[in-house]
Amino acid sequence: MKAIVMGGGIGGMCAAIALRRFGIETAVYEAVKEIKPVGAAISIWPNGVKCLNYLGMKESLRALGGPMHYMAYNEYQQGQTLTRFSMDPLIKSVGERPYPVARAELQAMLLDSYGRDAVQFGKRVTAVEQSTSGVTAFFEDGSEAHGDLLIAADGTHSVVRQHVLGYQAERRYAGYVNWNGLVEIDESIAPADQWTTFVGEGKRVSLMPVSGNRFYFFFDVPLPQGLAEDRSTVRADLQRYFSGWAPQVQQLIASINPGTTNRIEIHDIEPFMSLVKGRVALLGDAAHSTTPDIGQGGCAAMEDAVVLATALQTHSLGIEDALLRYQQKRVGRVTDLVLKARKRCDVTHGKEMAVTEQWYQELKLETGERILAGMCETILGGPLE
Ligand code: FAD
Repeated sequence: MKAIVMGGGIGGMCAAIALRRFGIETAVYEAVKEIKPVGAAISIWPNGVKCLNYLGMKESLRALGGPMHYMAYNEYQQGQTLTRFSMDPLIKSVGERPYPVARAELQAMLLDSYGRDAVQFGKRVTAVEQSTSGVTAFFEDGSEAHGDLLIAADGTHSVVRQHVLGYQAERRYAGYVNWNGLVEIDESIAPADQWTTFVGEGKRVSLMPVSGNRFYFFFDVPLPQGLAEDRSTVRADLQRYFSGWAPQVQQLIASINPGTTNRIEIHDIEPFMSLVKGRVALLGDAAHSTTPDIGQGGCAAMEDAVVLATALQTHSLGIEDALLRYQQKRVGRVTDLVLKARKRCDVTHGKEMAVTEQWYQELKLETGERILAGMCETILGGPLE
């Protein structure tokens, strides 16, 4: 059996590694010559970590992860702590730690694990065709690839998605802009072993430790789409949006490198009821595009990869049957993640300011129990409980 994988991001690489683990021949086709991930870092929650462990990357992942032992919310004006608690109860309950990691390092780990030379770069798929005996991918450069099945891991702007769904899915602007990057750890901004978030005015500023003495930082601001802002204006933009915020936030803005700070208008897509058609399966953001508000998009792609490979390995009624089983196992889970993230997004970003203000009040009474219970529920919904 040969699987052709479109896209060499988190989803495509995990799928290729997972399939190969079960002896399925794979070939990966990636559109760009060099992958430059859109975000600086990513938090891999224990459901995602377990998938990477399962795929043989336990030790390498540990080396990339930052020590996120505590979690805290601070109010925005003085930077005073609203709540602070240990992540230990979560870790004990689910049996694994979360790992915030730099994206470029995660991507390198996945490529090294699969073998860089086995990925064909500069291959942008433009169309796919399938018959009862196989699938063909057509690339922009005029070349073609053939396989018994095709995995579309070509991201949120997937071109293969329409082949599966039969319609063009529209992305939905979630109403806020996210700036993110990496900066050297400075403990006068936040503790080095803590996920710290400053909240107020429907905005947030967050810091998570990754390896190499660095914070992954991000700023969220509810804004209209299409503003004329880019890297050249980033520091002034952040100073304006966060005027009156705590000294720690001002210090962070002063210390960022505008040249490596990303600005992203956050979107999601209404969940789909179909993830497969015949011999073609959507995976990762091609299958479910979520806002990053619960940090689960990449983790869900890792879960997809494990479930898809397992479905192919453990069933014998043919590829189409195995893909339908993959769909059946994933639709509910990923719909839940997308909608949970959307709900969280609205509360965090002041869609109804009274609800957001109520959340700020609740944070003052939070012991960690409620927040960690919510996270546990999400994490334990993964395939490797
Ligand atoms: P992508 O990473 O988009 O990869 C798709 C790949 O396909 C790319 O390499 C692209 O070049 C290639 N491609 C595109 N078109 C074609 C084509 N036509 N032919 C061939 N190749 C093609 N997730 C988490 O789990 N935790 C987090 O903390 C988190 N934080 C996030 C923060 C932000 C600001 C954002 C925007 C997202 C965040 N996510 C997070 C989500 C996560 O980044 C995505 O879910 C994940 O990258 C999806 O991986 P993917 O491989 O499906 O898609």
